[in-house]
Amino acid sequence: MQDRDFIRDKTNDVLDGSAVTPQEAERLLFTNELLTLAECANTITRDYNANKVDVETLLNAKSGSCPESCSFCAQSSFYDSKINTYPLLATEVVLQRAQAAKEGGASSFCLVCAYRAPPEKDFQQICETIAEITEKVGIDVNVSLGFMTPLRARKLKSLGVKRYNHNLEAAESYFSKICKTHDFADRMKTAQIVKDAGLELCCGGIIGMGETPQQRIELGFSIASLRPEEVPVNILVAQQGTPLAQVSQISEDDVIRLIAVWRFIMPTTILKIGGGRELHLKDKGRLALKAGANGLITGGYLTVGGDSPHKDLRMIHEIGLHT
Ligand code: SF4
Repeated sequence: MQDRDFIRDKTNDVLDGSAVTPQEAERLLFTNELLTLAECANTITRDYNANKVDVETLLNAKSGSCPESCSFCAQSSFYDSKINTYPLLATEVVLQRAQAAKEGGASSFCLVCAYRAPPEKDFQQICETIAEITEKVGIDVNVSLGFMTPLRARKLKSLGVKRYNHNLEAAESYFSKICKTHDFADRMKTAQIVKDAGLELCCGGIIGMGETPQQRIELGFSIASLRPEEVPVNILVAQQGTPLAQVSQISEDDVIRLIAVWRFIMPTTILKIGGGRELHLKDKGRLALKAGANGLITGGYLTVGGDSPHKDLRMIHEIGLHT
């Protein structure tokens, strides 16, 4: 069967509720018919998720000095990456940022902290901050605090946290190359604790870290097995001082391909273009939202800046989508 017919065939299968297999996903990933692939991923997105784009703002509420060795991360204490590090931000500061996110048009606000897991004192302060945001700002609160226990996950649920972010980061077969202080199973375990507590799960990964295209497919299927409500696709922004500082850059077309194929693998999820969008996709950020993605992070990331909410909202409306 010709590639174009194969892609259309698989699109119809996904629209009928069937899953693609890893072998089929691989054939989709290697197709020369990139425009057909993108168009079909868009058809699946519109069918399952209509025209809505989920726009999220992040706040790095505790930066750097993380005891983990993730080799892509400028916040790891293992590397000399010269980022601005600071302890947990005061509740009033976080409240102001949540308010600004809401006024800027974001539908959710994600409070991110660089920990293996927060010390108890910080966890209590974070809980108080979440309660204040829920009461005074009225925006969906998501958090990302590292490894979770069932007790802490239930506490976050009771405070009204909507979604917990915990990325798998890399394929299981590549994970030991990017981190020595914890393993893939540790990440799967926290993701499962989050689900068991009744929180929505945001779980994605990073591409362009030197993995093979097949490992990107492998990662997609591992993420899909957790049935996350949201999946961020981050594209490595090589940070000076980290072991991945010199890794060669992934092409724009390969990013679009991957987003489209992950849409075939996970037809109903919010597939969000995360860190690296502005650097790697440039104007193809628009294409990504017509090739399977239906979410983006606006206003910057944890250690690098990004496009303003105003610019992103205008782009979303210009391509006929809405927030
Ligand atoms: S990715 Fe998370 S766990 Fe890993 S070093 Fe960075 S902040 Fe720490």
